[in-house]
Amino acid sequence: MFPEFTLRYARLPEHFFLRFDPVPVKAPRLVAFNRPLAEELGFDLDAFDADQAAEWFSGNAVPQGAEPVAQAYAGHQFGHFNPRLGDGRAVLLGEVVDRAGRLRDIQLKGAGMTPFSRGADGRAPLGPVLREYLVSEAMHVMGVPTTRALAAVTTGERVFRRVPEPGAVLTRVATSHLRVGTFQYFAARDDVEAVRTLAEMAIERHYPELAEVDEGERYLALVEAVAARQARLVARWMGLGFIHGVMNTDNCSIAGETIDYGPCAFMEAYDPATVFSSIDEGGRYAYRNQPWIAQWNLARLAETLIPLIDDDQERAVARATELIKRYEPLYEAEWLAVMREKLGLATEEEGDRALVDAFLEAMQAGRADFTLAFRRLGEAVEEDAPALLERFESDEGLRAWLPRWRERLAREDAGPAAIAERMRAVNPLYIPRNHRVEEALAAAAEDDFAPFETLREVLADPFTEQPGREAYAQPAPPTEAVFRTFCGT
Ligand code: AMP
Ligand code: MG
Repeated sequence: MFPEFTLRYARLPEHFFLRFDPVPVKAPRLVAFNRPLAEELGFDLDAFDADQAAEWFSGNAVPQGAEPVAQAYAGHQFGHFNPRLGDGRAVLLGEVVDRAGRLRDIQLKGAGMTPFSRGADGRAPLGPVLREYLVSEAMHVMGVPTTRALAAVTTGERVFRRVPEPGAVLTRVATSHLRVGTFQYFAARDDVEAVRTLAEMAIERHYPELAEVDEGERYLALVEAVAARQARLVARWMGLGFIHGVMNTDNCSIAGETIDYGPCAFMEAYDPATVFSSIDEGGRYAYRNQPWIAQWNLARLAETLIPLIDDDQERAVARATELIKRYEPLYEAEWLAVMREKLGLATEEEGDRALVDAFLEAMQAGRADFTLAFRRLGEAVEEDAPALLERFESDEGLRAWLPRWRERLAREDAGPAAIAERMRAVNPLYIPRNHRVEEALAAAAEDDFAPFETLREVLADPFTEQPGREAYAQPAPPTEAVFRTFCGT
């Protein structure tokens, strides 16, 4: 049933990883499986057998052709550099060529202690595994580049965080697991040839259009290409109110995918200063900081490539610095494109930026739910809709803004119905609301997977009204609101 492996990472020189077999678990049980993704990856689903799948996706059996490795990487965590992180609880089984001809990594997360574990247990609790499953798949459906979740298995063992929890393993699929931190690992060891190898792998796998660029330009071009993907990615997060929570350089993907769903959460009442993660005390990774943290991470990537950019170090630094500055307008353009779509604008006008800002200000003043404010705005294209107004605790700002917006809409080529329709296609009704996610995880910890399954179903179709599922669109009631998320992953 497993597709054939086309090993790439495990064929790099030995100092890129440590060979490491997953540590077997006591009683693996498959609790979630992503059939459409499995199909996409080339699994033979006619031969699907849940017991066999539980063996593979727990790491108890290594599928034929896989050569499990723990990848080496470093990273800046909350601004502090750690030269040796690496896969402390993940193993890359290998790469497969999917049905579209793209190379995809298949990784087990929670597969046991590796030489990179640094004293931690190498395991993952069920809660964070299911959270990553739900949120990453929701992000994918909402059009955000992301790693995917192929399977979740419970291990029959307990892991100890704040309290004992059921253990689990997540099978994660990524376009690759190359991170800014992977480059940093080798740069910190002055291993320029290894950095070059990584850069070439990144170009081949993710930026084949750069293959022909000559030596003198290609590494700077790589940074520029990664910057473009990151700008696009973070703009999409911002458009959904998504807060990643741990934008460390080891969680910054070279392929431009969202990776590592830890204390991530979606903002409800709009406030750009929102932070959820309990470990983010200084608010470094607050909602509004995300675009600039991505830029900071890109600067760390550029630093690793300095020796390859130009023999003259000063000139290399100057060129890289100039390029990193160019991320700002790039990001602004991506963000404005996302926001225009959310407001139903398909054309571009000078004043659009101010129009977007004014709506966000009204939303903040009115403590409106970010997701529902945009969704209900689509019902107010022609006249004030109660469903929109009731989202705002105070609506003076909104009422002043609406005529301005409608005046702008009148200059669009589409009529009100068409505008409303395209707004529904980009402003989700259902997002993984924190309290719903928590509720599903709590039930699963008691071996009741029904809430998880229901939430998975709801999130699979986020742009369409689902009769009977109205409650899933609602923000948390005050008693259930989540203001803090815990890493404890
Ligand atoms: P993360 O916060 O998941 O991005 O992980 C940061 C680093 O800590 C990586 O090197 C992980 O492999 C490592 N790590 C996180 N949790 C564990 C764990 N339970 N056991 C071993 N290593 C871990
Ligand atoms: Mg990580």
